[in-house]
Amino acid sequence: MAPARTRVNSLNVAVIGAGAAGLVAARELRRENHTVVVFERDSKVGGLWVYTPNSEPDPLSLDPNRTIVHSSVYDSLRTNLPRECMGYRDFPFVPRPEDDESRDSRRYPSHREVLAYLEDFAREFKLVEMVRFKTEVVLVEPEDKKWRVQSKNSDGISKDEIFDAVVVCNGHYTEPRVAHVPDSWPGKQIHSHNYRVPDQFKDQVVVVIGNFASGADISRDITGVAKEVHIASRSNPSKTYSKLPGSNNLWLHSMIESVHEDGTIVFQNGKVVQADTIVHCTGYKYHFPFLNTNGYITVEDNCVGPLYEHVFPPALAPGLSFIGLPWMTLQFFMFELQSKWVAAALSGRVTLPSEEKMMEDVTAYYAKREAFGQPKRYTHRLGGGQVDYLNWIAEQIGAPPGEQWRYQEINGGYYRLATQSDTFRDKWDDDHLIVEAYEDFLRQKLISSLPSQLLES
Ligand code: FAD
Repeated sequence: MAPARTRVNSLNVAVIGAGAAGLVAARELRRENHTVVVFERDSKVGGLWVYTPNSEPDPLSLDPNRTIVHSSVYDSLRTNLPRECMGYRDFPFVPRPEDDESRDSRRYPSHREVLAYLEDFAREFKLVEMVRFKTEVVLVEPEDKKWRVQSKNSDGISKDEIFDAVVVCNGHYTEPRVAHVPDSWPGKQIHSHNYRVPDQFKDQVVVVIGNFASGADISRDITGVAKEVHIASRSNPSKTYSKLPGSNNLWLHSMIESVHEDGTIVFQNGKVVQADTIVHCTGYKYHFPFLNTNGYITVEDNCVGPLYEHVFPPALAPGLSFIGLPWMTLQFFMFELQSKWVAAALSGRVTLPSEEKMMEDVTAYYAKREAFGQPKRYTHRLGGGQVDYLNWIAEQIGAPPGEQWRYQEINGGYYRLATQSDTFRDKWDDDHLIVEAYEDFLRQKLISSLPSQLLES
């Protein structure tokens, strides 16, 4: 851990966004005695997990002037991680005795349960009082070693304020990345950001591009109404062609080779389908339309930089920070650790390295990723590197490393997701990790008793 300074600063801090990252950032900043304003353009806390049946009018979200719908959650969505490892460390995501029948106690619950958990979290730590709802941040820029934050509320009234620091928690699953399909292809196209329910695909032949979490889920959701569903997956060898278990109209292919004016789509494996619709499950782009750093921070091929350990821009640290950029990791747990680090760096309890040292570190990180042949767009993908990253941040703030059961659960979860994508939410073989997790919560007095299912087993 970096040496602690003796003087502890209490600053005025703006947090942008009241999703899972912004909520825990607000809590940690306040715990560190900072004064916090959370700007939230929606009327509720929860961010991505605030489901809406509405989607954007432009199904590929290509129009920069479109009305933005923030959430990308579809109606049938259940979590892709077991709940014990998914929650914040000191407020576990577990069914609670006071939960009523509207709650979902499954290990991989529906999106509604995640929103209810985040609302519980906000209530428990009295976070809502810090949030300015229906207020969008439209500009953030440095001014005399402080930060100018311009916001606009739903009545169109703008406000200009100066803060000592800004913590960016605006989420990164709203600006779709779309695969290139020539205009001459006559079918319909939609990005998963705008997918809610399968009805529109009734009796259609649908090609889903992408086979990660959303692609795997949405293709299965559609099979119930569509005639045929074909997944095109870049990460599979070119000969790939298989019928997937769990339905009789779902096939996995390698990537698309070409699309044609007559509506046909040819895959690298040589198979040809006459498709009605392409669903792009091709991910999202980092997007900070409000941020003006005179070109210091850029987003190039989905790499936000330069950022020290994905959080601090060296020349602007600690006044500007980003929570939640890395993916393929334990999101809420990481948000909590990153937030504690930011709060402590702002108060001076933890000292960051010099700007030069942070820049050296960033350059070395980029060089290492490049040497391993990682595309730039994967700069913030942690995957196998997550344990080192999370434990390193924990060390900076004097917190214990992540629990072994937590890391084992996520690794096992990823494996099941990849190998049994039709059943991974309901069939598992790591009950012993569930027991370890709950015993840990009990030992730390984070729960008052073991759930009845565990006592019975
Ligand atoms: P968000 O939840 O997106 O919150 C950002 C907030 O910022 C929003 O409330 C938004 O309104 C606000 N905002 C944005 N711009 C402005 C502005 N200019 N001014 C004011 N407010 C603004 N993670 C898991 O751990 N488990 C899962 O099972 C899981 N499933 C997922 C499924 C899908 C389909 C997707 C897309 C992601 C999933 N994730 C999952 C990852 C998920 O993104 C994170 O868990 C987490 O909820 C993101 O939190 P966040 O606070 O970073 O962003």
